[in-house]
Amino acid sequence: MDKTGAMDATVGARLPPGLSAATTVVGVIGDPVAHSLSPLLHNTAFEAMGLDWVSVGFPVRSGRAGGALAGAGALGIRGLSVTMPHKDAVAALVDRRTPLADQLGAVNCVIREDGEWRGDNTDGPGLVASLRRGGRFDPEDRRCLVVGGGGAARAVIAALAAAGAAEVVVVNRTRERAARAAGLAGPVGRVGVAEDAPGCDLVVNATPLGMGETSLAGSGEDGKQSPVWPVDPDLIRRGQVVVDLVYHPAVTPWMAAAGERGAVVANGVGMLVHQAALQITAWTGQEAPVEAMWAAVDGSAGGPDPRV
Ligand code: NAP
Repeated sequence: MDKTGAMDATVGARLPPGLSAATTVVGVIGDPVAHSLSPLLHNTAFEAMGLDWVSVGFPVRSGRAGGALAGAGALGIRGLSVTMPHKDAVAALVDRRTPLADQLGAVNCVIREDGEWRGDNTDGPGLVASLRRGGRFDPEDRRCLVVGGGGAARAVIAALAAAGAAEVVVVNRTRERAARAAGLAGPVGRVGVAEDAPGCDLVVNATPLGMGETSLAGSGEDGKQSPVWPVDPDLIRRGQVVVDLVYHPAVTPWMAAAGERGAVVANGVGMLVHQAALQITAWTGQEAPVEAMWAAVDGSAGGPDPRV
């Protein structure tokens, strides 16, 4: 400061544009985290909202989430997005959980409130919001099939049931895990098989299958590798909505095959954008600028319009 109390211009000049000592900080914890699109989505939202907030990535190793939460609380960090491998651990560490985070035993977002961490899970509601965007697909009274029984599948299954789906069929390699996941949908959930797909309005792949090399397994009699699909594309019918939660590549071979059969296909960018938008609202109490957030990742995700 100079004698008049004005800030030394050289100090301000060293700060990145728009940031100051008063800037509110949020971030994402995960491992790895350097390629996370969350800070891009959050910062796009803050700029569009005219808020003096910033989001950054914090690499946090497995087993260190407790230390990260304690440190973030001490530093006045307002909220964190939580990604692999910390979602289950953070659910056990927070002071309070929303009913959905409690049901899933997984947290993808924490909010600082009255000196405590509240844990929420916006993954499934994010997918449902992306499906509903522009009136494209409402799960209410519709039959849905989800492939997978892991964290993403469980979030989607619970959200589809909460959105009023008539049925949520769960197909998974490990049947016992499928049964547990289907239980999250209550009376509308059941374990099924891929052959149930033609009778469903929505088919969601919540496994890494269907993306590039990981989908290649086994050798046929001709010695060639054949793709292992989440659901055989020959079971997909015209007009069905088919979503692959994967978004790298922007169009998976499975999405392309489903599109060739006349399905309306989308990748996982919608879930990514809308789960982040719900986090912004949880942190700021304001509506998130979803269209600006979509515009920020449409380019980085590449490929054709991934929206349903
Ligand atoms: P996860 O908890 O590890 O679960 C993986 C699921 O895939 C399990 O149900 C597993 O079956 C199944 N699976 C894995 N390899 C398989 C194989 N070779 N054959 C058959 N099934 C197989 O993972 P997750 O967190 O749920 O993530 C699943 C996918 O969703 C990932 O591709 C991830 O990138 C994507 N995702 C996207 C978003 C988004 O915002 N778009 C968010 C989260 C996740 P078993 O139960 O039999 O092991």
